[in-house]
Amino acid sequence: CGVFGIYGHPEAANMTYLGLYSLQHRGQESCGIVASDGHSLRAHRKSGLVADVFRDPVLFERLPGQSAIGHVRYSTAGGNDEKNCQPIMVDYVRGSIAVAHNGNLINAQELRNELEQLGSIFSTVADTEVIIHLLARTQSDSLSERIADALRRVRGAYSLLFLTETRMVAVRDPNGFRPLILGKLDGAYVVASETCALDLIEAEFIREIEPGEMIIIDKKGLHSLFPLEVAQPSPCIFEYIYFARPDSTIFGREVYGVRKEYGRQLAREFPVEADVVVPIPDSGVPAAIGYAEQSGIPFELGLIRNHYVGRTFIEPQQSIRHFGVKIKLNPVREVIEGKRVVVIDDSIVRGTTARKIIKMIRHAGAKEVHVRISSPPTSYPCYYGIDTPTRTELISSSHSIEEINRYITSDTLGYLSIEGLLKATCGSENLEQCHFCTACFCGRYPLKFPRLKDDRQLG
Ligand code: 5GP
Ligand code: SF4
Ligand code: MG
Repeated sequence: CGVFGIYGHPEAANMTYLGLYSLQHRGQESCGIVASDGHSLRAHRKSGLVADVFRDPVLFERLPGQSAIGHVRYSTAGGNDEKNCQPIMVDYVRGSIAVAHNGNLINAQELRNELEQLGSIFSTVADTEVIIHLLARTQSDSLSERIADALRRVRGAYSLLFLTETRMVAVRDPNGFRPLILGKLDGAYVVASETCALDLIEAEFIREIEPGEMIIIDKKGLHSLFPLEVAQPSPCIFEYIYFARPDSTIFGREVYGVRKEYGRQLAREFPVEADVVVPIPDSGVPAAIGYAEQSGIPFELGLIRNHYVGRTFIEPQQSIRHFGVKIKLNPVREVIEGKRVVVIDDSIVRGTTARKIIKMIRHAGAKEVHVRISSPPTSYPCYYGIDTPTRTELISSSHSIEEINRYITSDTLGYLSIEGLLKATCGSENLEQCHFCTACFCGRYPLKFPRLKDDRQLG
C-alpha cells in the first residue's frame, strides 16, 4: 500500500490526489482521501485506480480543508471489499479520527479476538481496524499517548498516517519495515511512502521518518517523539528489488541505482556468453542495464510492454493472472531471432511469468535463453505487508534451482546471492551496518509471528 498526507495547505485534497497518483504502483485495488476543514472530517473511498475514483471534480469540493490523508491499497490483510477501503474513518468520544496504513500487523487476529470478547464491534476485516479500537479504549489524555498506547500492543509492519480535525500524526514501526518520508511544500508539511510523491507536487524532501518515530503536526508546528520500544531496524529489502518506484529515494538510497547495482553484481556472480541482455519490463529494466554494463553484452528492449495493462501479480484473481503475461508483453523478433538471450527479471514467485515469457522468446527464434534474477530465490512468505503467496505457491520453497530451471525451460538460471544482494545494497565496506529484512529469502524473520501463514488472511 501507499500513504500520503499533507497539513496546512489550501488545496490539501488536490495535493493528496496527486500524491496518490504517484504512489499508484503501491496498490491498485482501492484508494481514498479523508480531508479536514478544522472542524470535521470528510471521506471519499472506493475500489479502483486513483484516476477513476477521483474522476469527478465535484468530489474535491466535498473534501474541503487544509489537511488531508490518502491511501492506495492492495490487499494483504483483509479482503477486497469496498468497506475495507482506507483511510478508515470513525467518530468516537474524543471526536473523529482517520487512519491510513501501509504494512501488516502480525498479531491483529489475536487482538481482534480479545477486543471482540470485550465488546468491540468491527466493521471491516482489515488488520488496521484493531488500532482504532485500541486507541478508542485507552484512557490517556493526549492524542499522541493514545496512539502510542495502541501501538505498544500491536506487532508488525506499519507506516501510519492519522488525521483528526486539527492534527496529523505519522508513525513508523520500530523495525521500519516500510518507508515513510517527510517533506515540505511552502508552509505545509507532507508525509508520503516514497519521495516520488514529493517530486510530483514539488515539495522539498526534509528527511525520512525514523523507525519507531512518531511525528505530530498541528498548527503549532512539528513535534517528534520516540514513544515505542526500540528494535533493530530491518527495512524491507524487497522495496529496493521490486516494490518502490525506481525514481524514489528510500532508506537513504535512490532505488534506481541500487537496482542497477543488483544487475552488476548478478553479472559478476553468473556471467554467461550471450549476444543480448533483455529485461522483462518494467521491473527488470534497471538490473538489466547493470548486467549489460558489467558484462559488456548489449542491452536491448526485446520485450515490449502494453502500458495499459496493470501489474498482473497484483490482480487479486487467479483467473486473470493466467492471461496476464501475454496481454502485457510481446517480443521484438529482430532483437531475439538467432540470438543467445540473457533475460533479466527482479523475482520469480510462482514461476508462471518466467515460463510463459521464455516460451514466447523461444517462439521468436532465440537460440539460447539464460535467465538471471536480481534477487535470491523467494522461498518464504512475507508477513510484513508484501502480498507474496503462501509457501506452497512459492516455487522455490519446494524446488531446487535446477528444478526451476527445467520448469521455466531456460538453458541456465542464476539468482543473485543474499551476500551479493546486501553487498550491492550497502557497499561491501558497510556490511556490518547493513540491516535489512531479507526474510522472504532466508526465512529469518526479524519479528516472530504468532500464527503460521496458512491462508491469505494474514497477508
Ligand atoms: P510469477 O509468475 O513468478 O509468480 O511472478 C513473477 C513476476 O511478478 C516478476 O516479474 C515480478 O516483477 C512480478 N511481481 C509483481 N508484483 C509482485 C510482488 O508483489 N511480489 C513479487 N515477488 N513479484 C511481483
Ligand atoms: Fe520485505 Fe521480504 Fe521482509 Fe517481507 S519478508 S518485509 S518482502 S524482505
Ligand atoms: Mg516484473
